[in-house]
Amino acid sequence: MVEILYLAAAVLFILGLKMLGSPRTARRGNTLAASGMLLAIVVTMVDAEILSWGAIIAGLIVGAAIGAVLALRVKMTSMPELVAAFNGFGGAASTLVALAELERTDAAFSGEIGSVVAASLAIGTVTFSGSFVAFGKLQGLIPGRPMGLPGQQAINAVLAAGVVVFGVWGVVAGVVAPYWLIVVVALALGVMGVLPIGGADMPVVISLLNSLSGVAAATAGFIIGNSALIIGGALVGAAGMILTVQMGEAMNRTLANVLFSGFGGAATAGEMSGKPVNSGTADDVAIALGYAESVIVVPGYGLAVAQAQHATRELGMALEERGITVDYSIHPVAGRMPGHMNVLLAEADVPYEQLLDLDQSNPRFGQTDVVLIVGANDVVNPSARDDDQSPIFGMPILEVDHARTVVVIKRSLSPGFAGIDNPLFYFDKTMMFFSDGKAAMEDILKSLKSL
Ligand code: NDP
Repeated sequence: MVEILYLAAAVLFILGLKMLGSPRTARRGNTLAASGMLLAIVVTMVDAEILSWGAIIAGLIVGAAIGAVLALRVKMTSMPELVAAFNGFGGAASTLVALAELERTDAAFSGEIGSVVAASLAIGTVTFSGSFVAFGKLQGLIPGRPMGLPGQQAINAVLAAGVVVFGVWGVVAGVVAPYWLIVVVALALGVMGVLPIGGADMPVVISLLNSLSGVAAATAGFIIGNSALIIGGALVGAAGMILTVQMGEAMNRTLANVLFSGFGGAATAGEMSGKPVNSGTADDVAIALGYAESVIVVPGYGLAVAQAQHATRELGMALEERGITVDYSIHPVAGRMPGHMNVLLAEADVPYEQLLDLDQSNPRFGQTDVVLIVGANDVVNPSARDDDQSPIFGMPILEVDHARTVVVIKRSLSPGFAGIDNPLFYFDKTMMFFSDGKAAMEDILKSLKSL
């Protein structure tokens, strides 16, 4: 019976994950996967006979209340921090399971099960300490810039080798002490591994740590012989790794480059300062938009900062009422986390049919009258295509400069995440409207209504 219920939970995880692949079904997918998790937890608790029904229900109420408060209160822009904390707790849980098993059997592990315990301790603990350093960086508790000691990579290599050596010692000799040493060294490895990474690179690292937390959970599942934990952990491990690879591809960076290059620190822009730009007012933008036939809106990180999604949607609807075709192009790494723009635009009820991905967008820009860029910068930077000296050369971009007119809304000429200048701002066909994203949208809407 327990195994059948675990199988049902696994089916719910898989269906839920599949449904998360489309914004239309994502909410239902999330509910399905969460129900699978609830089922797995309750079955485990009842089967293990370690808690009374009263304690199980009390735990569910407390846990659900904490989850509900977090879900309602955490801002979209703070999502990476929340996920980092979740991953950290996941890693810690796997470590605790392995340690409890070590204590419970009171005999040291060796052989196959010993290697699984060693892996669970190593991966769980690295995930725990690494995730909380990532959390601290994003939360501003520790500096977000890359922080490393001289010879950092050699230190990390020694720590990683230490984990392996203690693991082999524990498995071969069948003694308990090396397993505890794994925990100590892995704690240091997580901290030392994440400290040298720039705060702005954290989303990629968090996605990797998410994958590791899944692998740690799967190893914990092997230790206690729980098939739901093995399947759930493997799914998280695989999904997290796919996401990490996709983020790397969309930024044209390898994982090694993210982990070891210290990129994402200080901004280095400025060579282009002093060059003239065409700057316009809300009235100028309203005229350009109001007399266009087709408009594509390109949202970026600044739209999230300004919380301009609702104002953008209202402007889009006002344009549609004038008979103008309006679409929204979403770059895979626009914003600061995967799906950031999709979530914001969905919140503002932009219809899914109007959302274009990179491949759908690029052939369309050539036939578009006006591209309206709201707080995006790197994802529309033509140097990624044209300048082989650029740090972001090779990153796929939205080729907005193929449109007839480009309007860019941002507060200044400051660079974005990559810290580099954007030649697009200086093109003849580009009009800069320097303003906060939300205020700009409201002002343009007002001007449009008086056209
Ligand atoms: P960018 O970070 O390139 O640029 C954002 C721009 O928004 C800034 O230049 C800023 O200019 C502007 N801005 C900030 N606040 C406001 C505001 N209130 N109103 C209007 N504009 C504002 O963003 P993109 O979305 O174009 O690119 C995302 C970058 O993040 C890429 O380099 C990507 O690789 C990286 N990244 C993405 C991840 C993801 O998963 N999505 C993960 C990790 C990194 P100003 O200050 O002048 O207003």
